[in-house]
Amino acid sequence: MAAAEYDVAVIGAGPGGYVCAIRCAQLGLKTACIDRRPAPGGTCLNIGCIPSKALLQSSELWQEAQGDLAGHGIRIAGAALDLAAMMARKDKVVAALTKGVAGLLKKNGVTYVAGQARLLGGGAIEVAGRRLAAAHIVVATGSEAASLPGIAIDEKRILSSTGALALSQVPRRLAVIGGGYIGLELGSVWQRLGSEVTVVEFLDRIAAGMDGEIARQLKRSLEKQGIAFRLGQSLAAVEKKGAGLKLTLAPAGKKGAKGEALACDAVLMAIGRRPHTAGLGLEQAGVGCDDKGRIAVDGHFATAAKGIFAIGDCVAGPMLAHKAEEEGIAVAENIAGRAGHVNYGVIPGVVYTEPEAAQLGKTEEELKAEGTGYAVGRFAMLANSRARAAGRTQGMVKVLADANSDRVLGVHILGQAAGELIAAAAIAMEFGASAEDIARTCHAHPTYSEALREAALDVAGRAVHG
Ligand code: FAD
Repeated sequence: MAAAEYDVAVIGAGPGGYVCAIRCAQLGLKTACIDRRPAPGGTCLNIGCIPSKALLQSSELWQEAQGDLAGHGIRIAGAALDLAAMMARKDKVVAALTKGVAGLLKKNGVTYVAGQARLLGGGAIEVAGRRLAAAHIVVATGSEAASLPGIAIDEKRILSSTGALALSQVPRRLAVIGGGYIGLELGSVWQRLGSEVTVVEFLDRIAAGMDGEIARQLKRSLEKQGIAFRLGQSLAAVEKKGAGLKLTLAPAGKKGAKGEALACDAVLMAIGRRPHTAGLGLEQAGVGCDDKGRIAVDGHFATAAKGIFAIGDCVAGPMLAHKAEEEGIAVAENIAGRAGHVNYGVIPGVVYTEPEAAQLGKTEEELKAEGTGYAVGRFAMLANSRARAAGRTQGMVKVLADANSDRVLGVHILGQAAGELIAAAAIAMEFGASAEDIARTCHAHPTYSEALREAALDVAGRAVHG
Protein backbone atom coordinates (compact mmCIF):
# COMPACT_ATOMS: atom_id res chain seq x y z
CA MET A 1 0.00 0.00 0.00
CA ALA A 2 1.32 3.45 -0.94
CA ALA A 3 2.21 5.77 1.97
CA ALA A 4 -0.43 8.44 2.65
CA GLU A 5 0.25 11.98 1.49
CA TYR A 6 0.05 13.24 5.11
CA ASP A 7 0.70 11.66 8.49
CA VAL A 8 -2.16 13.73 9.92
CA ALA A 9 -5.02 15.73 8.38
CA VAL A 10 -6.93 17.93 10.81
CA ILE A 11 -10.42 19.03 9.73
CA GLY A 12 -11.21 22.38 11.32
CA ALA A 13 -8.82 25.23 12.12
CA GLY A 14 -10.44 26.43 15.35
CA PRO A 15 -8.49 26.40 18.64
CA GLY A 16 -8.80 22.61 18.76
CA GLY A 17 -7.75 21.99 15.17
CA TYR A 18 -5.02 24.56 14.59
CA VAL A 19 -3.32 23.84 17.94
CA CYS A 20 -3.46 20.11 17.18
CA ALA A 21 -1.95 20.69 13.72
CA ILE A 22 0.90 22.79 15.13
CA ARG A 23 1.67 20.22 17.84
CA CYS A 24 1.61 17.38 15.25
CA ALA A 25 4.09 19.31 13.09
CA GLN A 26 6.30 20.04 16.11
CA LEU A 27 6.38 16.29 16.75
CA GLY A 28 7.68 15.68 13.23
CA LEU A 29 4.42 14.61 11.59
CA LYS A 30 3.59 15.83 8.06
CA THR A 31 0.35 17.70 8.70
CA ALA A 32 -2.47 19.39 6.78
CA CYS A 33 -5.11 21.58 8.41
CA ILE A 34 -8.36 22.00 6.48
CA ASP A 35 -11.06 24.62 7.07
CA ARG A 36 -13.92 25.90 4.96
CA ARG A 37 -13.07 29.43 6.12
CA PRO A 38 -10.33 31.22 4.17
CA ALA A 39 -8.80 32.33 7.49
CA PRO A 40 -7.95 29.94 10.35
CA GLY A 41 -9.06 30.48 13.96
CA GLY A 42 -12.51 28.85 13.81
CA THR A 43 -15.47 30.11 15.80
CA CYS A 44 -13.23 31.39 18.59
CA LEU A 45 -11.21 33.91 16.61
CA ASN A 46 -13.70 34.76 13.85
CA ILE A 47 -17.13 34.88 15.51
CA GLY A 48 -16.69 33.90 19.17
CA CYS A 49 -14.26 34.56 22.02
CA ILE A 50 -12.22 37.31 20.37
CA PRO A 51 -14.83 39.60 18.74
CA SER A 52 -17.02 39.30 21.85
CA LYS A 53 -14.15 40.31 24.13
CA ALA A 54 -13.21 43.20 21.81
CA LEU A 55 -16.79 44.53 22.04
CA LEU A 56 -16.95 43.93 25.80
CA GLN A 57 -13.79 46.01 26.21
CA SER A 58 -15.02 48.83 23.95
CA SER A 59 -18.49 48.94 25.49
CA GLU A 60 -17.00 49.02 29.00
CA LEU A 61 -14.89 52.02 28.04
CA TRP A 62 -17.98 53.71 26.59
CA GLN A 63 -19.83 53.12 29.82
CA GLU A 64 -16.94 54.54 31.83
CA ALA A 65 -16.87 57.61 29.60
CA GLN A 66 -20.62 57.95 30.17
CA GLY A 67 -20.25 58.57 33.85
CA ASP A 68 -18.31 55.95 35.79
CA LEU A 69 -15.13 58.03 35.39
CA ALA A 70 -16.80 60.99 37.09
CA GLY A 71 -16.36 59.14 40.39
CA HIS A 72 -12.58 59.33 39.78
CA GLY A 73 -12.82 63.08 39.23
CA ILE A 74 -12.67 62.77 35.46
CA ARG A 75 -15.43 64.49 33.51
CA ILE A 76 -15.73 63.88 29.80
CA ALA A 77 -17.99 66.29 27.99
CA GLY A 78 -19.49 65.45 24.61
CA ALA A 79 -18.51 61.76 24.45
CA ALA A 80 -20.08 60.21 21.36
CA LEU A 81 -20.58 56.63 20.28
CA ASP A 82 -19.19 55.71 16.84
CA LEU A 83 -20.53 52.18 16.49
CA ALA A 84 -19.07 51.73 13.01
CA ALA A 85 -15.59 52.55 14.33
CA MET A 86 -16.10 50.19 17.30
CA MET A 87 -17.04 47.37 14.91
CA ALA A 88 -14.12 48.20 12.62
CA ARG A 89 -11.74 47.95 15.59
CA LYS A 90 -13.22 44.57 16.50
CA ASP A 91 -12.74 43.36 12.90
CA LYS A 92 -9.15 44.60 12.96
CA VAL A 93 -8.42 42.65 16.16
CA VAL A 94 -9.91 39.51 14.57
CA ALA A 95 -7.96 39.98 11.31
CA ALA A 96 -4.66 40.47 13.16
CA LEU A 97 -5.15 37.32 15.23
CA THR A 98 -6.29 35.09 12.34
CA LYS A 99 -3.31 36.34 10.33
CA GLY A 100 -1.11 35.45 13.30
CA VAL A 101 -2.49 31.89 13.37
CA ALA A 102 -1.96 31.55 9.60
CA GLY A 103 1.65 32.62 10.20
CA LEU A 104 2.09 30.06 13.00
CA LEU A 105 0.77 27.25 10.80
CA LYS A 106 3.19 28.27 8.04
CA LYS A 107 6.14 28.65 10.42
CA ASN A 108 5.55 25.13 11.74
CA GLY A 109 5.27 23.67 8.23
CA VAL A 110 1.54 22.86 8.37
CA THR A 111 -0.23 22.96 4.98
CA TYR A 112 -3.45 25.01 5.22
CA VAL A 113 -6.15 23.81 2.84
CA ALA A 114 -9.22 26.05 2.45
CA GLY A 115 -12.41 24.18 1.58
CA GLN A 116 -15.30 22.07 2.84
CA ALA A 117 -14.04 18.62 3.81
CA ARG A 118 -15.88 15.31 3.60
CA LEU A 119 -14.71 11.97 4.93
CA LEU A 120 -14.66 9.29 2.23
CA GLY A 121 -13.78 6.34 4.48
CA GLY A 122 -10.37 4.84 5.17
CA GLY A 123 -7.84 7.66 5.32
CA ALA A 124 -9.41 9.62 2.46
CA ILE A 125 -10.89 13.11 2.54
CA GLU A 126 -12.50 15.08 -0.29
CA VAL A 127 -11.70 18.77 -0.12
CA ALA A 128 -11.94 21.56 -2.69
CA GLY A 129 -12.56 19.06 -5.48
CA ARG A 130 -9.57 16.87 -4.73
CA ARG A 131 -8.80 13.76 -2.72
CA LEU A 132 -6.37 13.93 0.14
CA ALA A 133 -5.01 10.90 1.99
CA ALA A 134 -3.79 10.82 5.59
CA ALA A 135 -2.71 8.06 7.95
CA HIS A 136 -4.56 9.80 10.81
CA ILE A 137 -7.52 12.18 10.63
CA VAL A 138 -8.52 14.50 13.49
CA VAL A 139 -12.06 15.92 13.25
CA ALA A 140 -12.25 19.32 14.97
CA THR A 141 -15.28 20.79 13.21
CA GLY A 142 -16.60 22.64 16.26
CA SER A 143 -20.15 23.77 16.87
CA GLU A 144 -22.83 26.13 15.59
CA ALA A 145 -25.53 28.21 17.29
CA ALA A 146 -28.73 26.32 18.06
CA SER A 147 -32.22 27.79 17.64
CA LEU A 148 -35.70 26.69 18.67
CA PRO A 149 -38.10 24.87 16.34
CA GLY A 150 -40.03 27.32 14.14
CA ILE A 151 -37.73 30.27 14.92
CA ALA A 152 -35.56 31.11 11.94
CA ILE A 153 -32.43 33.21 12.49
CA ASP A 154 -32.27 36.06 9.93
CA GLU A 155 -29.28 37.86 11.55
CA LYS A 156 -31.19 41.15 11.18
CA ARG A 157 -33.80 41.07 13.93
CA ILE A 158 -33.67 37.41 14.97
CA LEU A 159 -30.01 36.99 15.77
CA SER A 160 -27.49 34.33 16.63
CA SER A 161 -24.32 35.43 18.44
CA THR A 162 -22.75 36.01 15.01
CA GLY A 163 -25.37 38.63 14.10
CA ALA A 164 -25.22 40.17 17.58
CA LEU A 165 -21.47 40.77 17.07
CA ALA A 166 -22.06 42.78 13.91
CA LEU A 167 -25.12 45.02 14.37
CA SER A 168 -24.94 48.37 12.59
CA GLN A 169 -27.35 50.06 15.03
CA VAL A 170 -28.00 49.76 18.75
CA PRO A 171 -31.41 48.07 19.11
CA ARG A 172 -33.69 50.08 21.41
CA ARG A 173 -34.98 46.91 23.09
CA LEU A 174 -33.05 43.63 22.91
CA ALA A 175 -34.39 40.33 24.21
CA VAL A 176 -31.77 37.68 24.92
CA ILE A 177 -33.02 34.11 25.03
CA GLY A 178 -30.64 32.18 27.28
CA GLY A 179 -28.84 33.30 30.44
CA GLY A 180 -25.62 31.41 29.75
CA TYR A 181 -22.25 33.07 29.20
CA ILE A 182 -22.86 34.07 25.56
CA GLY A 183 -26.25 35.67 26.36
CA LEU A 184 -24.89 37.49 29.43
CA GLU A 185 -21.79 38.79 27.66
CA LEU A 186 -23.55 40.00 24.51
CA GLY A 187 -26.50 41.28 26.57
CA SER A 188 -23.96 43.33 28.58
CA VAL A 189 -22.37 44.74 25.41
CA TRP A 190 -25.69 46.06 24.04
CA GLN A 191 -27.01 47.19 27.43
CA ARG A 192 -23.86 49.27 27.90
CA LEU A 193 -24.28 50.71 24.41
CA GLY A 194 -27.85 51.78 25.21
CA SER A 195 -30.29 48.89 24.61
CA GLU A 196 -32.96 47.96 27.12
CA VAL A 197 -31.99 44.32 27.63
CA THR A 198 -34.23 41.54 28.94
CA VAL A 199 -32.71 38.10 29.45
CA VAL A 200 -35.21 35.23 29.26
CA GLU A 201 -33.98 32.02 30.88
CA PHE A 202 -35.64 28.61 30.99
CA LEU A 203 -34.07 27.70 34.35
CA ASP A 204 -34.73 29.48 37.65
CA ARG A 205 -31.14 30.80 37.66
CA ILE A 206 -28.55 32.23 35.28
CA ALA A 207 -25.06 30.95 34.40
CA ALA A 208 -26.02 27.28 34.71
CA GLY A 209 -23.10 25.15 35.85
CA MET A 210 -21.53 27.94 37.89
CA ASP A 211 -21.65 27.94 41.69
CA GLY A 212 -25.16 29.08 42.70
CA GLU A 213 -23.97 31.74 45.18
CA ILE A 214 -21.74 33.37 42.55
CA ALA A 215 -24.52 33.20 39.93
CA ARG A 216 -26.99 34.90 42.30
CA GLN A 217 -24.53 37.72 43.03
CA LEU A 218 -23.77 38.10 39.33
CA LYS A 219 -27.48 38.42 38.56
CA ARG A 220 -27.85 41.14 41.21
CA SER A 221 -24.90 43.04 39.73
CA LEU A 222 -26.31 42.83 36.22
CA GLU A 223 -29.75 43.93 37.46
CA LYS A 224 -28.15 46.99 39.08
CA GLN A 225 -26.63 47.81 35.71
CA GLY A 226 -30.11 47.72 34.18
CA ILE A 227 -30.48 44.23 32.69
CA ALA A 228 -33.91 42.70 33.38
CA PHE A 229 -34.36 38.95 33.87
CA ARG A 230 -37.34 36.70 33.23
CA LEU A 231 -36.40 33.38 34.81
CA GLY A 232 -38.34 30.14 34.47
CA GLN A 233 -39.63 31.26 31.06
CA SER A 234 -39.09 29.87 27.60
CA LEU A 235 -39.65 31.42 24.20
CA ALA A 236 -42.80 30.01 22.58
CA ALA A 237 -43.17 32.23 19.49
CA VAL A 238 -41.74 35.24 17.66
CA GLU A 239 -43.96 37.46 15.54
CA LYS A 240 -42.70 40.30 13.34
CA LYS A 241 -44.78 43.43 14.12
CA GLY A 242 -43.86 46.36 11.87
CA ALA A 243 -40.26 47.25 12.68
CA GLY A 244 -40.43 45.39 16.01
CA LEU A 245 -40.97 41.89 17.33
CA LYS A 246 -43.58 40.43 19.64
CA LEU A 247 -42.26 37.50 21.65
CA THR A 248 -44.56 35.09 23.42
CA LEU A 249 -43.01 33.57 26.53
CA ALA A 250 -44.32 30.49 28.32
CA PRO A 251 -43.60 29.23 31.83
CA ALA A 252 -40.80 26.68 31.46
CA GLY A 253 -41.91 23.08 31.34
CA LYS A 254 -45.65 23.90 31.23
CA LYS A 255 -46.75 23.14 27.68
CA GLY A 256 -49.88 25.03 26.61
CA ALA A 257 -49.77 27.41 29.62
CA LYS A 258 -50.79 30.99 28.81
CA GLY A 259 -47.69 32.99 27.99
CA GLU A 260 -46.64 36.56 28.67
CA ALA A 261 -45.79 38.91 25.80
CA LEU A 262 -42.45 40.69 25.46
CA ALA A 263 -42.01 43.45 22.89
CA CYS A 264 -38.53 44.09 21.50
CA ASP A 265 -36.71 45.30 18.41
CA ALA A 266 -34.28 42.40 18.16
CA VAL A 267 -33.93 39.02 19.79
CA LEU A 268 -30.66 37.15 20.36
CA MET A 269 -31.02 33.38 20.42
CA ALA A 270 -28.34 32.27 22.90
CA ILE A 271 -29.81 28.94 23.96
CA GLY A 272 -26.64 26.96 23.37
CA ARG A 273 -24.57 25.44 20.62
CA ARG A 274 -24.73 22.09 18.84
CA PRO A 275 -21.90 20.05 17.35
CA HIS A 276 -21.17 20.85 13.73
CA THR A 277 -21.00 17.61 11.79
CA ALA A 278 -23.46 18.07 8.89
CA GLY A 279 -22.13 17.03 5.48
CA LEU A 280 -18.98 15.56 6.98
CA GLY A 281 -19.68 12.00 5.82
CA LEU A 282 -19.44 10.55 9.33
CA GLU A 283 -21.65 7.57 8.49
CA GLN A 284 -19.74 6.69 5.35
CA ALA A 285 -16.51 6.74 7.35
CA GLY A 286 -17.99 4.59 10.14
CA VAL A 287 -17.82 7.33 12.79
CA GLY A 288 -20.62 7.18 15.38
CA CYS A 289 -22.38 9.90 17.40
CA ASP A 290 -23.96 9.96 20.86
CA ASP A 291 -27.63 10.86 21.57
CA LYS A 292 -26.74 14.59 21.55
CA GLY A 293 -25.21 14.43 18.07
CA ARG A 294 -21.65 14.71 19.41
CA ILE A 295 -18.99 12.50 17.84
CA ALA A 296 -18.48 9.51 20.14
CA VAL A 297 -14.86 9.03 21.23
CA ASP A 298 -13.02 6.89 23.76
CA GLY A 299 -10.62 8.19 26.44
CA HIS A 300 -7.95 8.65 23.74
CA PHE A 301 -10.18 10.69 21.40
CA ALA A 302 -10.50 7.71 19.01
CA THR A 303 -13.79 7.31 17.13
CA ALA A 304 -15.25 3.97 16.06
CA ALA A 305 -13.37 4.29 12.74
CA LYS A 306 -9.72 3.25 12.79
CA GLY A 307 -7.34 6.19 12.42
CA ILE A 308 -10.07 8.85 12.90
CA PHE A 309 -10.05 10.96 16.08
CA ALA A 310 -12.26 13.84 17.24
CA ILE A 311 -11.76 16.75 19.65
CA GLY A 312 -13.20 20.11 20.78
CA ASP A 313 -16.78 21.33 20.58
CA CYS A 314 -17.87 18.43 18.34
CA VAL A 315 -17.26 15.92 21.18
CA ALA A 316 -18.60 15.78 24.75
CA GLY A 317 -17.45 18.22 27.43
CA PRO A 318 -17.57 21.97 27.98
CA MET A 319 -17.71 23.94 24.73
CA LEU A 320 -14.70 26.12 25.51
CA ALA A 321 -11.72 27.13 23.41
CA HIS A 322 -9.11 26.11 25.98
CA LYS A 323 -10.72 22.68 26.44
CA ALA A 324 -10.50 22.21 22.66
CA GLU A 325 -6.83 23.30 22.71
CA GLU A 326 -5.96 20.86 25.50
CA GLU A 327 -7.58 18.03 23.56
CA GLY A 328 -5.78 19.12 20.38
CA ILE A 329 -2.41 18.83 22.08
CA ALA A 330 -3.29 15.55 23.79
CA VAL A 331 -4.47 13.83 20.61
CA ALA A 332 -1.37 15.03 18.71
CA GLU A 333 0.84 13.52 21.41
CA ASN A 334 -1.13 10.26 21.33
CA ILE A 335 -0.78 10.03 17.54
CA ALA A 336 2.96 10.62 17.86
CA GLY A 337 3.20 7.74 20.34
CA ARG A 338 3.41 9.89 23.47
CA ALA A 339 1.00 9.99 26.41
CA GLY A 340 -1.42 12.89 25.84
CA HIS A 341 -3.72 13.73 28.74
CA VAL A 342 -6.40 16.26 29.66
CA ASN A 343 -7.30 16.92 33.30
CA TYR A 344 -11.03 17.60 32.96
CA GLY A 345 -11.27 18.37 36.69
CA VAL A 346 -9.25 21.57 36.25
CA ILE A 347 -10.79 23.41 33.31
CA PRO A 348 -11.70 27.00 34.22
CA GLY A 349 -14.85 28.66 32.93
CA VAL A 350 -15.18 32.45 32.74
CA VAL A 351 -18.09 34.81 32.07
CA TYR A 352 -16.55 38.10 30.91
CA THR A 353 -19.25 40.38 32.28
CA GLU A 354 -18.59 43.21 34.75
CA PRO A 355 -17.89 41.86 37.32
CA GLU A 356 -16.37 38.76 35.74
CA ALA A 357 -17.35 35.35 37.06
CA ALA A 358 -14.85 32.50 37.03
CA GLN A 359 -15.17 28.94 38.16
CA LEU A 360 -12.93 25.95 38.60
CA GLY A 361 -13.53 22.44 39.87
CA LYS A 362 -16.59 21.50 41.86
CA THR A 363 -19.42 23.84 42.82
CA GLU A 364 -20.98 23.73 46.28
CA GLU A 365 -24.13 22.20 44.73
CA GLU A 366 -22.08 19.41 43.15
CA LEU A 367 -20.27 18.60 46.41
CA LYS A 368 -23.58 18.45 48.27
CA ALA A 369 -25.13 16.21 45.60
CA GLU A 370 -22.22 13.75 45.69
CA GLY A 371 -22.11 13.78 49.50
CA THR A 372 -18.50 15.01 49.80
CA GLY A 373 -17.72 16.67 53.12
CA TYR A 374 -16.28 20.12 52.47
CA ALA A 375 -15.25 23.32 54.21
CA VAL A 376 -15.86 26.68 52.61
CA GLY A 377 -13.87 29.91 52.82
CA ARG A 378 -15.19 33.22 51.51
CA PHE A 379 -13.74 36.67 51.10
CA ALA A 380 -15.65 39.73 49.88
CA MET A 381 -13.97 42.01 47.33
CA LEU A 382 -15.32 44.92 49.38
CA ALA A 383 -12.60 44.14 51.95
CA ASN A 384 -9.81 43.93 49.34
CA SER A 385 -7.69 47.07 49.23
CA ARG A 386 -6.90 46.92 45.51
CA ALA A 387 -10.61 46.53 44.72
CA ARG A 388 -11.32 49.56 46.94
CA ALA A 389 -8.63 51.64 45.25
CA ALA A 390 -9.96 50.72 41.82
CA GLY A 391 -13.60 51.20 42.82
CA ARG A 392 -14.39 47.61 41.74
CA THR A 393 -15.69 46.20 44.97
CA GLN A 394 -18.42 43.86 43.73
CA GLY A 395 -17.98 40.15 44.18
CA MET A 396 -16.17 37.59 46.28
CA VAL A 397 -13.79 34.65 46.24
CA LYS A 398 -15.00 31.29 47.45
CA VAL A 399 -12.70 28.33 48.12
CA LEU A 400 -14.12 24.84 48.65
CA ALA A 401 -11.81 22.31 50.30
CA ASP A 402 -12.17 18.68 51.32
CA ALA A 403 -13.29 18.53 54.96
CA ASN A 404 -10.76 15.81 55.79
CA SER A 405 -7.72 16.41 53.60
CA ASP A 406 -8.09 20.20 53.05
CA ARG A 407 -7.38 19.57 49.31
CA VAL A 408 -8.91 22.33 47.20
CA LEU A 409 -11.94 20.98 45.32
CA GLY A 410 -13.28 24.17 43.77
CA VAL A 411 -12.58 27.90 43.46
CA HIS A 412 -15.25 30.41 42.41
CA ILE A 413 -14.59 34.09 41.88
CA LEU A 414 -16.80 37.06 41.10
CA GLY A 415 -14.99 40.34 40.60
CA GLN A 416 -12.64 42.42 38.55
CA ALA A 417 -10.13 40.25 36.66
CA ALA A 418 -11.68 37.02 37.97
CA GLY A 419 -10.72 35.40 34.65
CA GLU A 420 -7.06 36.19 35.35
CA LEU A 421 -7.17 35.31 39.06
CA ILE A 422 -8.57 31.84 38.37
CA ALA A 423 -5.26 30.86 36.70
CA ALA A 424 -3.48 30.87 40.08
CA ALA A 425 -6.19 28.60 41.48
CA ALA A 426 -5.84 26.31 38.45
CA ILE A 427 -2.10 25.91 39.05
CA ALA A 428 -2.79 25.19 42.72
CA MET A 429 -5.43 22.56 41.91
CA GLU A 430 -3.29 20.99 39.16
CA PHE A 431 -0.60 20.44 41.81
CA GLY A 432 -3.15 19.07 44.30
CA ALA A 433 -2.83 22.04 46.68
CA SER A 434 -4.59 22.26 50.02
CA ALA A 435 -6.36 25.45 51.12
CA GLU A 436 -3.49 25.87 53.58
CA ASP A 437 -0.94 25.76 50.72
CA ILE A 438 -2.67 28.77 49.14
CA ALA A 439 -3.04 30.44 52.54
CA ARG A 440 0.71 30.07 53.22
CA THR A 441 1.71 31.52 49.83
CA CYS A 442 2.83 35.14 49.92
CA HIS A 443 0.67 37.29 47.62
CA ALA A 444 1.67 40.81 46.51
CA HIS A 445 -0.09 43.76 48.14
CA PRO A 446 -2.29 45.42 47.09
CA THR A 447 -3.67 42.93 44.54
CA TYR A 448 -6.98 41.24 43.89
CA SER A 449 -5.11 37.96 44.39
CA GLU A 450 -4.96 38.65 48.13
CA ALA A 451 -8.70 37.90 48.15
CA LEU A 452 -7.90 34.35 47.01
CA ARG A 453 -5.42 33.95 49.85
CA GLU A 454 -7.89 35.37 52.38
CA ALA A 455 -10.64 33.00 51.17
CA ALA A 456 -8.16 30.11 51.57
CA LEU A 457 -7.36 31.34 55.10
CA ASP A 458 -11.10 31.54 55.80
CA VAL A 459 -11.44 27.79 55.08
CA ALA A 460 -9.83 27.35 58.51
CA GLY A 461 -11.71 30.37 59.92
CA ARG A 462 -8.62 32.57 60.08
CA ALA A 463 -9.02 35.27 57.42
CA VAL A 464 -7.12 38.35 58.58
CA HIS A 465 -9.04 41.10 56.82
CA GLY A 466 -12.49 39.48 56.68
P1 FAD B 1 -14.43 25.83 16.20
O1 FAD B 1 -13.71 26.98 16.76
O2 FAD B 1 -15.90 25.93 16.02
O3 FAD B 1 -13.74 25.53 14.81
C1 FAD B 1 -14.23 24.56 13.93
C2 FAD B 1 -13.82 24.93 12.52
O4 FAD B 1 -14.15 23.83 11.68
C3 FAD B 1 -14.58 26.13 11.97
O5 FAD B 1 -13.67 27.10 11.50
C4 FAD B 1 -15.41 25.56 10.82
O6 FAD B 1 -15.48 26.45 9.74
C5 FAD B 1 -14.60 24.32 10.43
N1 FAD B 1 -15.40 23.28 9.79
C6 FAD B 1 -16.54 22.71 10.24
N2 FAD B 1 -16.94 21.74 9.39
C7 FAD B 1 -16.02 21.71 8.39
C8 FAD B 1 -15.87 20.92 7.21
N3 FAD B 1 -16.73 19.93 6.90
N4 FAD B 1 -14.81 21.17 6.40
C9 FAD B 1 -13.92 22.15 6.69
N5 FAD B 1 -14.02 22.91 7.80
C10 FAD B 1 -15.04 22.69 8.63
N6 FAD B 1 -14.89 29.86 24.54
C11 FAD B 1 -14.01 30.21 25.51
O7 FAD B 1 -13.24 29.37 25.96
N7 FAD B 1 -13.94 31.50 25.96
C12 FAD B 1 -14.76 32.47 25.50
O8 FAD B 1 -14.68 33.62 25.94
C13 FAD B 1 -15.69 32.14 24.49
N8 FAD B 1 -16.52 33.07 23.97
C14 FAD B 1 -17.38 32.73 22.97
C15 FAD B 1 -18.22 33.71 22.47
C16 FAD B 1 -19.11 33.40 21.46
C17 FAD B 1 -20.01 34.47 20.91
C18 FAD B 1 -19.13 32.07 20.91
C19 FAD B 1 -20.07 31.73 19.79
C20 FAD B 1 -18.30 31.10 21.41
C21 FAD B 1 -17.42 31.42 22.45
N9 FAD B 1 -16.57 30.45 23.00
C22 FAD B 1 -15.72 30.79 24.02
C23 FAD B 1 -16.61 29.04 22.56
C24 FAD B 1 -15.43 28.75 21.62
O9 FAD B 1 -15.50 29.61 20.51
C25 FAD B 1 -15.47 27.31 21.19
O10 FAD B 1 -15.52 26.47 22.32
C26 FAD B 1 -14.23 26.95 20.37
O11 FAD B 1 -14.14 27.76 19.23
C27 FAD B 1 -14.27 25.49 19.97
O12 FAD B 1 -13.14 25.19 19.23
P2 FAD B 1 -13.14 24.03 18.13
O13 FAD B 1 -11.77 24.03 17.57
O14 FAD B 1 -13.68 22.79 18.70
O15 FAD B 1 -14.20 24.49 17.01
